[in-house]
Amino acid sequence: MSLLYNIALLPGDGIGPDVIAEAVKVLHTVERKLKGVAFELSEYPVGAGEYLRSGTPLPDASIEACRKADAILLGAMGIPTVRWPDGKEMTPQIDLREIFQLYSGVRPIYLYNSIDSPLKDFDMGEIDFVIVRESTEGLFSARLSQSDPSKGEVCDTLRITRKGTERVCRAAFEIARKRRKKCTLIDKANVLPSMVFMRKIFNEIAKDFPDVEADYVYVDAASLFLVQRPNDFDVMVTENMFGDILSDLAAGLVGGMGMAPSADIGDKQAIFQPSHGSAPDIAGKGIANPIATILSTALMLDWLGCEQCKRGANAIRDAVSRVFSNPLNRTSDLGGSVSTEQMGNLISEAIQLNP
Ligand code: ATP
Repeated sequence: MSLLYNIALLPGDGIGPDVIAEAVKVLHTVERKLKGVAFELSEYPVGAGEYLRSGTPLPDASIEACRKADAILLGAMGIPTVRWPDGKEMTPQIDLREIFQLYSGVRPIYLYNSIDSPLKDFDMGEIDFVIVRESTEGLFSARLSQSDPSKGEVCDTLRITRKGTERVCRAAFEIARKRRKKCTLIDKANVLPSMVFMRKIFNEIAKDFPDVEADYVYVDAASLFLVQRPNDFDVMVTENMFGDILSDLAAGLVGGMGMAPSADIGDKQAIFQPSHGSAPDIAGKGIANPIATILSTALMLDWLGCEQCKRGANAIRDAVSRVFSNPLNRTSDLGGSVSTEQMGNLISEAIQLNP
């Protein structure tokens, strides 16, 4: 009998539907190839486009469907011209992280082919590390606060809680334990009291992981070291906003946003989505790189955790590796001419051909 997983699909806005279509294609290929596991996919409306249609970017019915699903696969959200009255963009993907308490934003950064890195002319070694971004508090917790700019001052609070820090640090150490056994806290403990507090809690959690080396780098220095010697890092754990910024920098090291997958993981639910946004500049052109979303689908299979799922996840990563060994197989963000759909086909074919 097949294992059956219910997957909620939230394609969203901009390039979201295009990249999700290719991830679904790849997931069905994995299903056919592996046998013994099946995915029932149901699509739900979320995003700025949904706000224009129904008056809310995140309908209750979509939230409830996500709550019941075994996993959630999300494209991208946001249309720059569609904003709340106070000027902020609609970000239902962040609402979902908070609603489901998806505290670990796990972002693996891996360079499949050195020709895709801007560091290719330097001897930087392998690029293979994971950013774990705290995703429910930090500076983003200020996003729903009220402000009155007429007073000549607007203040955003960076909120760090013991509970929030303990759970994300624990998750980061667990990941490090299965990798090269090094976990680095990226903070600003030389300046901000909230970061002194975060480091104290990180040190407490580190005691439960004596087999993992714990160290610290200030966020400004981390930006420098990521460019100069990315090979130094294994797992980096950090506050929400620092993680947001460093994720884009790190994606740049391996070819750009189209190569950066992400998993937002909580104790019950998890959402898998590319690290990138809706990329309005290329939306509707059929040229978006779907690899980040396809690799996020592999992260989903890792998280679902059954034997076939784990094999499926490895089959996807192996297919990306083989497709990327040919420099002609590149979408336009990487200097090639392969379309979104063609890239999805290449990955699917590579999975099918894998003995
Ligand atoms: P958000 O704040 O929602 O994360 P953003 O404003 O940081 O979004 P993105 O949508 O991530 O911006 O896009 C940043 C840049 O990367 C844009 O130039 C965009 O075209 C490019 N980009 C993002 N995703 C892809 C992709 N899948 N393929 C090709 N280019 C991409």
